[in-house]
Amino acid sequence: MQNRNSNSQIWREAVTLRRNRRAKYVRLRIYPPGQVEVVIPHNFDERALPQILEQHTPWVEERLRHYSTQERFQLAPPQWLNLEAIEERWRVEYQPGNGQRSSCRTPGEGELVIAAPTPEQQREMLKRWLARRAKEVLPPWLEQTSRELSLPFSGVSIRGQRTRWGSCSSRGAINLNYALLFLQPDLVRYLFVHELCHTVHLNHSRKFWALVKEKEPHYRSYEQALKQASAQVPTWLYMPFQIAPS
Ligand SMILES: [Zn+2]
Repeated sequence: MQNRNSNSQIWREAVTLRRNRRAKYVRLRIYPPGQVEVVIPHNFDERALPQILEQHTPWVEERLRHYSTQERFQLAPPQWLNLEAIEERWRVEYQPGNGQRSSCRTPGEGELVIAAPTPEQQREMLKRWLARRAKEVLPPWLEQTSRELSLPFSGVSIRGQRTRWGSCSSRGAINLNYALLFLQPDLVRYLFVHELCHTVHLNHSRKFWALVKEKEPHYRSYEQALKQASAQVPTWLYMPFQIAPS
């Protein structure tokens, strides 16, 4: 079918390659609605790529067809922001903006007005607003959890990484993803527990998991939930959604 072939062409031409030192296998990832990323090990021979893409074509095209029919996977800036972590729901209104200047204001409770000329700029303003809101609410919450667990940390920053919910540096500085705002509160709290335990053990050793278990006995189900949690993040933020079987 000609249609299928031309669709196939489109996603293949847009495939992005990312080398990852720690990757042991080739992995395909789809960023809905249509970006396909291939993560390859450091010493991967790129000549093998066409064959790998060929092999995974049915899977990729099935996913792309699925995403194209689902509203949640549209890239249009959203009408609502459901920040489950902090139980806030914001209605978003868009205005064309004043020439080149974009702005963002909150005229009333739960009302957000984004003024920007293009959907890209609207999304950008929304991301910035989310990051700001996350900076207001996540650090005090982390602080409180840290006191409850008696696990001090040296600093906290908020970012919008694509692949991590959080991280902890060797100096005990914790980094949090602002997309955490879209997850359930208990899952966010668990992520804090995980990162705070890294201030003691900077690895995933047995000792680390023993400490995590001491602080959160149900850690296994939370770890499982975190692995699937990117599905709760709306697509306009561009989180990885699914990892292909390899
Ligand atoms: Zn970890």
